[in-house]
Amino acid sequence: MPADPSLTGHARSTAASEALYARACDLAPGGVNSPVRAFGAVGGTPVFVRRGRGPYLYDVDGNEYVDLVCSWGPLILGHAHPQVVEAVTTAVANGTSYGTPSEPEVELAAEIVDRTPVEMVRLVSSGTEATMTAVRLARGVTGRDVVVKFAGCYHGHVDALLAAAGSGVATFGLPGTPGIPAASTASTIVLPYNNLDAVKQTFAEYGDQIACVITEAAVGNMGVVPPRPGFNHALAEQCRRHGALFISDEVMTGFRVTRSGHWALDGADEGWAPDLMTFGKVMGGGFPAAAVGGRREVMERLAPAGPVYQAGTLSGNPVAATAGLTTLRLATDDVYAHLDQAAGRLQELAGKALTEAGVPHVIQAAGNLFSVFFVDSDEVTVIDNFDAANKQATHRYAAFFHAMLDAGVYLPPSAYEAWFVSAAHDDRALDRVAEALPVAAAAAAATPPPPADNSAGAGE
Ligand SMILES: *Cc1c(COP(=O)(O)O)cnc(C)c1O
Repeated sequence: MPADPSLTGHARSTAASEALYARACDLAPGGVNSPVRAFGAVGGTPVFVRRGRGPYLYDVDGNEYVDLVCSWGPLILGHAHPQVVEAVTTAVANGTSYGTPSEPEVELAAEIVDRTPVEMVRLVSSGTEATMTAVRLARGVTGRDVVVKFAGCYHGHVDALLAAAGSGVATFGLPGTPGIPAASTASTIVLPYNNLDAVKQTFAEYGDQIACVITEAAVGNMGVVPPRPGFNHALAEQCRRHGALFISDEVMTGFRVTRSGHWALDGADEGWAPDLMTFGKVMGGGFPAAAVGGRREVMERLAPAGPVYQAGTLSGNPVAATAGLTTLRLATDDVYAHLDQAAGRLQELAGKALTEAGVPHVIQAAGNLFSVFFVDSDEVTVIDNFDAANKQATHRYAAFFHAMLDAGVYLPPSAYEAWFVSAAHDDRALDRVAEALPVAAAAAAATPPPPADNSAGAGE
């Protein structure tokens, strides 16, 4: 439900978005091409965007919003960065796809290898493809089938990874959606996040069948839930001891939370690295590009160097690779310092506004990635896993979201998503958010709970 304008002081025209949404609903399931865009979790009409520039989105009704979604992560430099636009325009003029190797994909691979612990990469077109390939490679290399994942981690819509936890710890997974054969998740074990005992118990029982453990390097897809100190390292160690591969999914965190990703925050100093890593979002610069990377001897098992098959008509696409490469080259230490600072300021402002309005909340961060959990009581101080994330007071988030939207701030339309900033988020943009927050916090405080609905959002 849109916030009451008499409460927010803002009226926002939505007629053009509403008309497009009605047409879209007639032509596409739910009117969108990825579920969370439909505003199902917050109600109201999705905003149809016509244009983006710097930190702002402009919708078809002419409203301007400070964008705190940034295309769900990719736009680390903001919308339509002039140098990215120029590089992409030049690339397009030279032809949009060749079906042959080309120079930008080599340079993009070199940039990724330079920034991360991986030695080789295979470029693909989406994060989903990257994790699907990583799991296939792990299974191909180990000759084992079982995949261990954590509840609340999203790795794209890969059958084996869209598994719901069975009852009890260390049981095999159930299909997370209709359309996935039970056989596809029968080799997936879903464990509670941040629970090393469950991991150890699982390896003790099934160690010789486990091909890999896959985890988000820091979870961004149930809201931001960082790993406990040493958790990722311990996962890598368990895998090493039992001959399984450790896959760190950095599709969201890669090249965003540091110049490499989350690994630099919890791995680099201790001298360990994942066997395989997956990247996407930022490395595509707003185009469909993603990657799986890892140690040379593992990566060389992929076709045509090795026997594990994988392919893609548009893989390494020259326009996408150019966009990604240009974005990464412009993502300097100054950019990361700015992201950290902007994210820090927003967390502080949001915390202050919610505290003053008396709204119980928890703000969690992994580097410059952060999210706000609306909780039941001030006694909740940490969200450590999916069970805890599912206890959110999501009705408060819906009211908060719509008040922010009416005040010209575009937040993720789900309480289960991270907030994203970019290098383009300057004082003018952040001041707008600062102004909106107290009004939105008051709207959240004033919202009574509806009948229970804690449906978790999957990632975009
Ligand atoms: C977004 C995301 C994916 C899926 O990427 P797509 O490009 O949407 O397929 C996978 N893993 C993580 C951690 C993500 O955030």
